[in-house]
Amino acid sequence: MTASSWHDRAAAVTPDGRALIGGQRVWALGGQQFDNRSPIDGRSLGMVARCDGQDVDAAVASARAAFEARAWAGKAPAQRKRILIKFAELIEQNRAELALLETLDMGKPIKYSQTVDVGGAANCIRWYGEAIDKIYDEIAPTADSSLALITREPVGVVGAIVPWNYPMLMAAWKIAPALAAGNSVILKPSEKSPLTALRLGDLALQAGIPAGVFNVVPGYGNEAGSALALHVDVDCIAFTGSTRVGKQIMQMAGQSNLKRAWMELGGKSANIVCADCPDLDAAVAAAIGSIYFNQGQSCNAPSRLFVEESIKERFIEKAMAMMPSFAPGDPLDENTVMGAIVDAAQLNTVIGYIEAGKAGGARLLSGGARVRDDTGGFFVEPTLFDQVDSGMTIAREEIFGPVLSVLSFTDLSEAIKQANGTVYGLHAAVWTSDLTKAVQTSRALRAGTVHVNQYDNDDITVPFGGYKQSGNGRDKSLHAFDKYTELKTTWIQIG
Ligand code: NAD
Repeated sequence: MTASSWHDRAAAVTPDGRALIGGQRVWALGGQQFDNRSPIDGRSLGMVARCDGQDVDAAVASARAAFEARAWAGKAPAQRKRILIKFAELIEQNRAELALLETLDMGKPIKYSQTVDVGGAANCIRWYGEAIDKIYDEIAPTADSSLALITREPVGVVGAIVPWNYPMLMAAWKIAPALAAGNSVILKPSEKSPLTALRLGDLALQAGIPAGVFNVVPGYGNEAGSALALHVDVDCIAFTGSTRVGKQIMQMAGQSNLKRAWMELGGKSANIVCADCPDLDAAVAAAIGSIYFNQGQSCNAPSRLFVEESIKERFIEKAMAMMPSFAPGDPLDENTVMGAIVDAAQLNTVIGYIEAGKAGGARLLSGGARVRDDTGGFFVEPTLFDQVDSGMTIAREEIFGPVLSVLSFTDLSEAIKQANGTVYGLHAAVWTSDLTKAVQTSRALRAGTVHVNQYDNDDITVPFGGYKQSGNGRDKSLHAFDKYTELKTTWIQIG
């Protein structure tokens, strides 16, 4: 589709900002709303329900009632599978509308909204639907006089709180395994990007997920989010977001009812390129492509690049040649690869970090400025800093924007030490032709995922999550079921 036809569609969009509670689209009980503005041009996308504690109470009551009625949990897994596959098909059938909402709401390029976000969410929901009737329970090896069954049961009512950077995909990573396992779910999307979550609610109902099993409560974190995390009738809270808020959610889970609390949090991932890297062009393309993808707003973005001193000059030369291809453009143009930053606050945060980098003594090689302000949107140039050291703010803190810091090394063990020298442990990478070095480095890196000679591989079959303050659970893969199920042992006396 051309940019002008996407713009025509965008002009006609009138999103429904009402919450989904108990199978009904409703405004917040207290009548509060918030104005949802697009980061592309600052225009209002309409009013959205600003849910608070009383709306969360209503959503939890309806989720609990649906769970107790066993209308979903009691279905054969093969039946839940059919409905989830239908849900995935409906997402695909509505690909253009969902992609448009995602791009308007959080600013990412339309070409990625269609594939990574809508395609990824549909794939995730289909995959968990397909998986659920292929998982068997166990029988423990005990004496003939007894039988010990080890079964998995849904945990009950799951609260899912998600961020704005991949609104639909992060929601899918939570709701798909939680629903497949038979739980009732209350989804709290980010106030910065609530629209696709609300549409997912409609499509779930249309697919046949019973009323009350899937609820969506848009609103602010310290209102709807904390009400969900503190609720004594929520059995599990699955959170993706910042480490700062993750720590608060863990406390809320503990102080309320000790609900299961699963955290997928921030990152400051290190990408280590050794002089014996097998393909320098591929290493440069992956380093640049991965940090600037999604405007740098990815938890696993390799924001710290450690390059061996002897190849650094050549590496930077090649990186500089790529920078113009990441110039921010119109997110509704299918040729654009770099869109808008999610809002003014995040833009200011990014610009603040760029200023801190300059003031701290790092050398600005490229970018660093706000652009396209005439559009009314929030765009910043892809930014490249050289001569960064590990003590600088830009090397320590998660920027969550398109800012790459280049650090150099001569001793790999020192680079590994620095790579591990943050509170985070989400992703890491090493590039080398030496297999022993690759394996030893991978073992030494304290991260949930380590890439060797690539950065972009991704598959729903592979767990995703962090060490240290990057979190505790794992999204994706069959391991995600551990978050949404309880393990039950049943002893049966025989004879
Ligand atoms: P955030 O922590 O500000 O907000 C995340 C969600 O929590 C939002 O829905 C927000 O409304 C809610 N929230 C905020 N305060 C709350 C409170 N007091 N109680 C309950 N809920 C509250 O994060 P963000 O800015 O939306 O997202 C960016 C962060 O998410 C980054 O740190 C990024 O690394 C992280 N992230 C992690 C992963 C992962 O898989 N590890 C994936 C994507 C994003």
